Amino acid sequence: MENHTYDFCIVGSGFGGSVSALRLAEKGYKVAVVEKGQRFRTKDFPKTNWNLKKWFWIPWFNWRGFFKMTFLRHLTVYSGVGVGGGSLVYASTLPVPKDHFFKAPSWAHLANWKDELLQHYQTARKMLGVSTNPKLTYSDKIMADLAKVTPNKCPTH
Ligand SMILES: Cc1cc2nc3c(=O)[nH]c(=O)nc-3n(C[C@H](O)[C@H](O)[C@H](O)COP(=O)(O)OP(=O)(O)OC[C@H]3O[C@@H](n4cnc5c(N)ncnc54)[C@H](O)[C@@H]3O)c2cc1C
Repeated sequence: MENHTYDFCIVGSGFGGSVSALRLAEKGYKVAVVEKGQRFRTKDFPKTNWNLKKWFWIPWFNWRGFFKMTFLRHLTVYSGVGVGGGSLVYASTLPVPKDHFFKAPSWAHLANWKDELLQHYQTARKMLGVSTNPKLTYSDKIMADLAKVTPNKCPTH
């Protein structure tokens, strides 16, 4: 790289990194964004997940797709690699958490999170263009029925 001077260097161009970079640039700072994955154009996306080389990020095999799995002892983490980070793989659902998430004992005492965060959810919804999916498929219906009979214990939803 040539000699450049930046006010901020952001590592990773996912939802967090790219929004931080945008906000800093809007404030007039000179910002560099460093991203380890490639920039995907429409034609670079595989038509099927079985195209493992284009799908998975496993540089050891020279597979430089955009879907990464990180195996930890008790946990497997899925993430996106490339310009856009997780936006390359995410499912495009943008729920606002329900009240019990904001009131979780781990952080409820720190602030009124619902009031603090609501405006930011609204900004994200606006910027990402949230709209209601007009077409529900058979599998959507199965999942909705399943959600009704299986009360969700996950604190985030
Ligand atoms: C399959 C899937 C479906 C999902 N569906 C949804 C959904 O429907 N709705 C929702 O709200 N969320 C969803 N998520 C979660 C969402 O994608 C993540 O919460 C979000 O991407 C996290 O943003 P982030 O900025 O923290 O990290 P990321 O978006 O993961 O960005 C991190 C970036 O950093 C880069 N990077 C990492 N290490 C380095 C390095 N050393 N040098 C340079 N660059 C580096 C990575 O390549 C990546 O681009 C989904 C996630 C997955 C995996």
